[in-house]
Amino acid sequence: MSKNLVIFGPPGAGKGTQATRIQEKYGVRHLSTGDMLRAECSSGSPLGEMLKSILDAGQLVPDDVMIQLIGYVLDEPGCAEGFILDGFPRTLEQAKALDEMLVKAGKELDHVIVLGVDDDILVGRILARAAQSGDARSDDNEETLKKRLGVYNDQTTPILPYFEEKGLVRKIDGMASIDEVTAQINEVLGA
Ligand code: AMP
Repeated sequence: MSKNLVIFGPPGAGKGTQATRIQEKYGVRHLSTGDMLRAECSSGSPLGEMLKSILDAGQLVPDDVMIQLIGYVLDEPGCAEGFILDGFPRTLEQAKALDEMLVKAGKELDHVIVLGVDDDILVGRILARAAQSGDARSDDNEETLKKRLGVYNDQTTPILPYFEEKGLVRKIDGMASIDEVTAQINEVLGA
């Protein structure tokens, strides 16, 4: 049975790490909108230049751009076993558009996995990621991070009630160790 998932949480919550593990274990396709956007940024195209200025400012890319981007990939054969969306949806508009796309494709979401982590822990984690990484993300600095957290709290968390009403939200303690978080997710996914 396919698994169609969203992994949800603030920047630095560990979404990418956990989504990679879920991809390996269940064969679902990991769709990270942040990775897709960063690839376009480094292509040097005019669109990439425009996107880079938005990412570096810690702001959200416009909904129409994001909806088009995700529409292309959801239809790809690689999503036949399911997918895990990492970084999408981030606004109510995107959440509603996702619903429409899934209905058209004859698919349904199974779980929205929410990683809960306190803000003060996130700042420490992201700054450590920036310090350790040789090719640090240009949006992993304190100023942009605070902006990204503000955007998450203002524009992204309001989507949660939308998914809660559909009975899809599975809350996970994102402050536990990486392996413990993986174990909690596996329990939700029935493995
Ligand atoms: P992430 O790697 O998910 O933290 O995303 C990095 C950056 O890409 C975000 O701070 C946004 O600028 C942009 N981004 C990623 N996904 C979305 C989305 N669904 N909607 C708008 N902007 C996005």
